[in-house]
Amino acid sequence: MRLPFALPDIGDEEIDAVAAAMRSGWITTGPNAHAFQEEFVAFLEDPTVQAVAVNSATAGLHLALEALGIGPGDEVIAPSLTFTATVEVVRYLGAEPILVDVDSDTLCMSVDSMRAAITDRTKCVVPVHYGGLPCDMSAILKVAREHGLKVVEDAAHALPARYEGRLIGTLQSDATVFSFYANKTMTTGEGGMVVARDQAIIDRMKVMRLHGIDRDAFNRFRSDKPAWYYEVVAPGYKYNLTDIGAALGRVQLRRLPSFQMRREQLARRYFERLAGLPLILPARPNEAGGHSWHLYVVRLDDAAYARGITRDQVIMDLSKRGIGTSVHYVPLHRQPYWRDRGNLRPEQFPQSEHAYQRMISIPLFTAMTDADQEYVIDALHELLR
Ligand SMILES: *Cc1c(COP(=O)(O)O)cnc(C)c1O
Repeated sequence: MRLPFALPDIGDEEIDAVAAAMRSGWITTGPNAHAFQEEFVAFLEDPTVQAVAVNSATAGLHLALEALGIGPGDEVIAPSLTFTATVEVVRYLGAEPILVDVDSDTLCMSVDSMRAAITDRTKCVVPVHYGGLPCDMSAILKVAREHGLKVVEDAAHALPARYEGRLIGTLQSDATVFSFYANKTMTTGEGGMVVARDQAIIDRMKVMRLHGIDRDAFNRFRSDKPAWYYEVVAPGYKYNLTDIGAALGRVQLRRLPSFQMRREQLARRYFERLAGLPLILPARPNEAGGHSWHLYVVRLDDAAYARGITRDQVIMDLSKRGIGTSVHYVPLHRQPYWRDRGNLRPEQFPQSEHAYQRMISIPLFTAMTDADQEYVIDALHELLR
């Protein structure tokens, strides 16, 4: 592949920071992970939130829902057009995900569909900021409040993204979960961060992050109690972030504003140069909003379809030119486990389905050059003109 769909942007500074962590003798959760949490809160520019570093966003979603008391018999509403991690954690807890359709323009969860799916068993909603475009959080939070529902934002794509002037992570939801997987807007190899305000939720997530132990290993070596002493208060998980990952993450976080500028620049160029092709280009945020541009998802429009151009053909033709693409996502209602469990049919998700049939995520990553991007643009012009 001449040009992959995504690549991490890791330089000497990251490599030096990781090497220093490894040489320090402390490689598991320790000073780097603690500093990373604090620096993450500083990045969000809201001292009323706290951050909990974890070894994946999946772990973070699990911890957040567990801390909010989601359990057997409960229903959790989420969009069908997402990664399975958004809802597999609901099943970990014995609760039931209720999948709903997305908005045809933003591809974020449809608020009307969400409202229609609420029952007396509904406990929580998990909106996904698709591609890095914030969902209509005012409307979602309003409906959630009216029905006494918790809100956990799956912000795996949305660092940094802004809604009504505020960074995602600082809204009024109960918890927000970011991902540092290798292809996300910044990476720790594998990792994630949960952000919340409620002290009880933070405390519960910290305990459950490490075996249900009341203090993590680092604090154990700093408190007055003897180093060997700890107490298990719950059957917890093993979800802590290593200091190796955190050292990488701290450098990536410092570079995030420049990553963001580059992504914005690449997105702007796609908008300029792909206009006029038979494509639906991604929805853009309003003036008070901000898009992380984790993904740039184009959809073939009706004119392309009428000419017999298909998503699969375009993906294949791009691949022949050495251009990597992806599809975000095969909707969950088409995945055997979720389809069979919920007895789901494509007709129940017309917008997710329509988008899925026509969507292509084209290369967008900070390390791609302007020439790389021109190559993608030229290929799309050749194929669709
Ligand atoms: C990447 C992703 C996740 C999971 O993130 P991990 O850090 O790999 O666990 C969850 N939800 C969405 C929408 C994602 O894209």
